[in-house]
Amino acid sequence: MEITKENRKWLDGMGLEHPLVIAGPCSAETEEQVLKTAHLLKDTDTNVFRAGIWKPRTRPGGFEGVGALGLPWLQRVREETGMKITTEIGNAAHAELALKADVDILWIGARTTVNPFAVQEIADALKGVDKPVLVKNPVNPDLALWLGGVERFQANGISQLGVIHRGFSAYNTGHYRNLPKWHIAIELKKEFPDLPIILDPSHICGRRDTILDVSQTALDLNFDGFMIETHIDPDNAWSDAAQQITPARLDEITKELKIRQRSS
Ligand code: PEP
Ligand code: MN
Repeated sequence: MEITKENRKWLDGMGLEHPLVIAGPCSAETEEQVLKTAHLLKDTDTNVFRAGIWKPRTRPGGFEGVGALGLPWLQRVREETGMKITTEIGNAAHAELALKADVDILWIGARTTVNPFAVQEIADALKGVDKPVLVKNPVNPDLALWLGGVERFQANGISQLGVIHRGFSAYNTGHYRNLPKWHIAIELKKEFPDLPIILDPSHICGRRDTILDVSQTALDLNFDGFMIETHIDPDNAWSDAAQQITPARLDEITKELKIRQRSS
């Protein structure tokens, strides 16, 4: 795979003075929850609003997302706040619906990246599409599988690329929900310095009190941005309640990160 500066033009072209900030709830729950969260995020450093509408749950029975019903909610967010919008796509049907709704950035979830058949199916549905695609690491610590996901999109003419580091699952993760295994991200950056890499501290931490420290580590490693789960009422979120933060806390965290970055 050859990753060139072309592949990161989408990010550099945004002309940001700070790392990219993608924020928004784990799941879109109701139109009101989505819009309220977005309007609070509009006054922070957030550039891109995230919300999962198709939710891959490890075990059945949890909230599986509102599905395509949430697409007009995301479009309203874009219209009313000017933020770009992004959501996870897990199969070709999701890809087609997200394209029809003109979602600005698409991301591939960790449970999808592990499956080359699923990734290929999505890459085929997105063939030649002029939108950024961000590939989360697979749930298992396998750099080749992660890069293989990126390669499948690149081979299908998708030139706006990026990866999201969300940690790796293990039986005993102790302090973390998913182990950061920073050396894998460092290896990736060494091999592909022009491939934008974004940190998702929410799924690494699994709790809200460590998000700042983990994010700072990523900034020290020259990550390009963050995807942070943000909810108007985190304790009552329908998925990933323990790790979500309020828009006000997100604002504090991004400001704190910038101060520490300037003084280092
Ligand atoms: C998410 O971003 O809400 C999500 C399901 O993430 P992951 O694929 O990293 O588990
Ligand atoms: Mn989540």
